[in-house]
Formats: sequence, C-alpha cells, structure tokens
Amino acid sequence: MGELMQGKTALVMGVANRWSLAYAIARSLAREGARLILTYQSERQRAATEELATAFAGGEAAACDVSRDDDLDRFFAGLRERGVALDAVVHSIAFANREDLEHPFYETSRAGFLLAQDVSAYSLVAVARRAAELMPRGGSILTLTYLGATRVVPNYNVMGVAKAALEASVRYLAAELGARGIRVNALSAGPVKTASARAIKDFSKILDEVAQRAPLRRVTDPGEVGDAALFLASDLGRGVTGDILFVDSGCHVMGF
Ligand code: NAD
Repeated sequence: MGELMQGKTALVMGVANRWSLAYAIARSLAREGARLILTYQSERQRAATEELATAFAGGEAAACDVSRDDDLDRFFAGLRERGVALDAVVHSIAFANREDLEHPFYETSRAGFLLAQDVSAYSLVAVARRAAELMPRGGSILTLTYLGATRVVPNYNVMGVAKAALEASVRYLAAELGARGIRVNALSAGPVKTASARAIKDFSKILDEVAQRAPLRRVTDPGEVGDAALFLASDLGRGVTGDILFVDSGCHVMGF
C-alpha cells in the first residue's frame, strides 16, 4: 500500500456496483491509504455498495439521492455531527431518460432536458456547497465528464449538453473555492462499459471505434481513471484546478 492518501478521508459518490467508475476510483484511493465513505442512490444499491465499502479498511457506505435537497442536507448533516472532515470528494453521478438517448436530440422534452441537467450537472454545485463546509484543510473535488460535452458524439445527445454545463460549473466552482484551498477538476474518461453507458444506443460501436482510432489503440481501463483521480485527489495534483483531464487513450486529439 502507498501513502499518498494516508490520514485523508475521501467521499466517493455514485457507486452502483463493481463496474462503476466510482468504484475504480475508490480502489485507487484506498490503495494509497484513504479512509472511504461511499454513497449510493437508492435502497436497491445498498447491499452491493455496503459489501464493496467493507472490503476497504475503515470503509463505510450511505445513501444519498443528489436530486433531493432534503436528502443532501440529511447526509451532510450526518457527516458534520460525527465531526467528519473531508479531504477529497468524487462526484461520479449522471442520469438521463433512456428515450432521450435514443431519439434525435431535437426531440428532447423540456422535462428530460431539465432532469439530465439537474442530476448530472446541478448536483455538483449542490454537493460542492455542502462538502466545502466539511473541508477546513482545503482539498479536492472531482467530477466525471465525457468528450460529448464539447463534440457531437452520436446518441449522447441531452447528456452531452448536461456535461457541457458540468464542465462550466467546474470552472466557476474552482474560481470561487480556490481561496479556501479547495481545487475543483473533472476527469474526461473514455467510454467504459458500465450500467450508465449501456443506456447509450450503439455503445459497443463506440468502443470498437475507440479501439481502432485512439492513439493508444485500446479502450480505457477503469483503473486508469482511478489512478488519474488519485493524482487529482492527492497532493500530487496540488497545482491543478478548474481543469478537464482526459483519460481516454488520447481519443480527444483525433479529427475524423
Ligand atoms: P454508473 O451507472 O456505475 O454510475 C452512475 C451513478 O450515478 C450510479 O451510481 C447511479 O446510482 C448514480 N446516480 C444517478 N442518479 C442519481 C441520484 N439522483 N442521486 C445519486 N446518485 C445518482 O456509471 P458510470 O459510467 O460509472 O458513471 C459515473 C460517471 O462517469 C457519470 O458521470 C458518467 O457520465 C461518467 N462517465 C462515464 C463514462 C463511461 O463510458 N462509462 C465515460 C465518461 C464519463
């Protein structure tokens, strides 16, 4: 075990199962000694996430639905009452209606657009505001984004627009929280087969294309996302804020 996160507490939000990118990130942080608090969205995910959390030394799991202010307040008040101080926060959460990822973008409903923005972008702001109160030593807030924020990726649609808002939110949060020693960054991961990714139509085709066209000629391994998160969450990344770091086998540099 390394020591990059020794004595540090990391909150990792968005662990649904062992394929979640949040879980890959938790593994990298735990390997370097972090004490982990994992969150899951709903009762349905409780057993799986608790099992994953207890495999980490001192790990714990709790529910937090980021679309509900009362649930966010309850969860963060619970941490505060226990005197928990956070050093790193990972926001690995997104949601859009499946039909909005299957139909043309111009058919997106108002409700579907707002839902994707709420869960996938606004929730970072809602989390950062509450988490910052528990970061008296400063620290690192990290979210997960995708190339579809700035380029048109077939079928990514409403989620691409939500990721654009998320990336802009990273810059505004970084500018405001920097004075408190809190850094805010995003990791732009290449496509990885997870539960959320399966909702995107023809996702396997995207994976095949990445394997052929990316500079590294292979798809992204979740462990690579975990280790890049470790860099940003630990003191190794102490000079980096407001940034989008690509962990995508270099895919983002390619033209047609
Ligand atoms: P995942 O399905 O394992 O994780 C998504 C998580 O969001 C789940 O744990 C889900 O429960 C949670 N979530 C959804 N709505 C929520 C709510 N209201 N409250 C709390 N949690 C909620 O899939 P993943 O691919 O690991 O996704 C994690 C992040 O990585 C997302 O932001 C996703 O957009 C991003 N990302 C994924 C890929 C990929 O190819 N898998 C690529 C780039 C970025």
